[in-house]
Amino acid sequence: MKEIKLFAPATVANVSCGFDVLGFCLDPIGDEMIIRKTDQPGVRITKIEGQDLPLSTKKNVAGVAAEALLASLATSFGFEIEIYKKIKAGSGIGSSAASSAGAVFGINELLGRPYSRNELIQFAMKGEVLASGVGHADNVAPALLGGFTLVRCNKQVDVVALPSPSELYATIIHPKIELRTADARSVLKKNIPLNKAIEQWGNLAALVSGLYTDNYELISRSLVDVIIEPERSPLIPFFSELKGAALDAGALGSGISGSGPSIYALSRGEETAKKVRQAMEKVFLPMNIDFDTYVSKINTEGIKIIE
Ligand code: ADP
Repeated sequence: MKEIKLFAPATVANVSCGFDVLGFCLDPIGDEMIIRKTDQPGVRITKIEGQDLPLSTKKNVAGVAAEALLASLATSFGFEIEIYKKIKAGSGIGSSAASSAGAVFGINELLGRPYSRNELIQFAMKGEVLASGVGHADNVAPALLGGFTLVRCNKQVDVVALPSPSELYATIIHPKIELRTADARSVLKKNIPLNKAIEQWGNLAALVSGLYTDNYELISRSLVDVIIEPERSPLIPFFSELKGAALDAGALGSGISGSGPSIYALSRGEETAKKVRQAMEKVFLPMNIDFDTYVSKINTEGIKIIE
């Protein structure tokens, strides 16, 4: 095999109580990439369509992640990467992660799979360092593994795949304003009070339990963020109105997707997820802000080959 085309999905990281450790994979939104094996060594990004992003290997997350992977292997092959960008950079639904994860997944396939999907996370994270200054796996892990994923440790890269209850649907609203991950990180305090930490890890543990037991009530009670959301939500226009509308329309929970500005909601059943979309759109329609919305089941497959 010399060339493959793949779908690299968008992802929601943090999921309220799981800052930097929890994420899940979306279905309808994602980039397409073509990865080609060449005899000329090295990595070249030969085409980017859909967005103005750097072609330079060192400045594009796909290039950085691909080089990290190749540096770990003794191969004389090189690779060309074409990126057909659908996920807007800085949207908070894992645009950089899709490219990083897609690049390492595609190269790994063309080399006969020297690594498992889980092992590829460490290389894809190098792309995240370029995008945000921090090597976090909470977007690249669900992009590669699908479903919900928990990052037990970012340093030694220990990622656990979690179950996804079958009736769980996500609604995403993306206000088209750019909020850079690096900027959204800069508003966060370095220290947190113990009582807040206790609440947060109680909710995170309960959410994981809810995912294992299909307990939608418990999932709903656990989708609470007492640490990051209060700091970041002022950066997102009409955040509390959007979240309130989602909950009133029947969502189990709602919060900032990744570092924003996108907002996610989780609902039981597609019908409720669509009602939540309508309710969120109603908040934004009279405002002068352009936006996209999506309804998605949880994508349990992750990145996939499409040709
Ligand atoms: P998101 O959360 O949507 O991934 P980030 O702010 O984390 O947004 O990442 C976007 C940053 O990464 C931007 O500065 C963008 O220019 C840079 N970047 C470099 N290469 C890519 C790529 N292939 N896809 C998306 N963003 C990229």
